[in-house]
Amino acid sequence: MVNAGGELREDLGHKYGWRFWGKWSSPELEIIGCSGMRIGDFVSATTGADGQEWVRKHLGNAIFVHFIGKYSLVFPKRMVFLVRGFANKSHAEAHVTHELAHLLDNNLGGFFPATFIGRGPADALVYYLGGNPKQAPRKAGGLFKWRWYGGINLPWQEDLWQPAALYGNNSISDYFAEVFAWSVYPDAGHRVPSRAAEWLRTNLRRWSI
Ligand SMILES: [Zn+2]
Repeated sequence: MVNAGGELREDLGHKYGWRFWGKWSSPELEIIGCSGMRIGDFVSATTGADGQEWVRKHLGNAIFVHFIGKYSLVFPKRMVFLVRGFANKSHAEAHVTHELAHLLDNNLGGFFPATFIGRGPADALVYYLGGNPKQAPRKAGGLFKWRWYGGINLPWQEDLWQPAALYGNNSISDYFAEVFAWSVYPDAGHRVPSRAAEWLRTNLRRWSI
């Protein structure tokens, strides 16, 4: 098939509003599309609402861009930079879903990107769990870095990811993104801290369409 990637790319544009910069292979587009589908299915199963429409409403402003850097990220607010080779990662769909969770944080946050500044659902989750995002350790210093590094400082051990070294404990932004991603992919073997999982399910009903 000559233009399979092109069709899929168009389909994802129609379905969710997603845009893609540069060239994307069919396997890459399929992984991104499956990620959207699984997020929608998760929302449907949790809330009873039309999950695919939910994805369109809450994540439809994504612009996907290839990234030559080491880590995928969302910057400044709605550009989803995916590292080259992401499609070969063992949990490629969950990887994309993690980045889309950062986009959700931004979309539900204020004017400035919540993944850097806070005031989005990632902060709300930390408050819910008894932490204070404003007092998160600023080990790495700088204006933005404390949303990405330095830990999360939750008062109760059972709310942290186990084992403690897991990525989700690194920062406020990534704690939320990991809760979202592994809730969408519950069979991947990462147990989402239960109070955080419950918080997400409750709030999905609030962030309705
Ligand atoms: Zn992240």
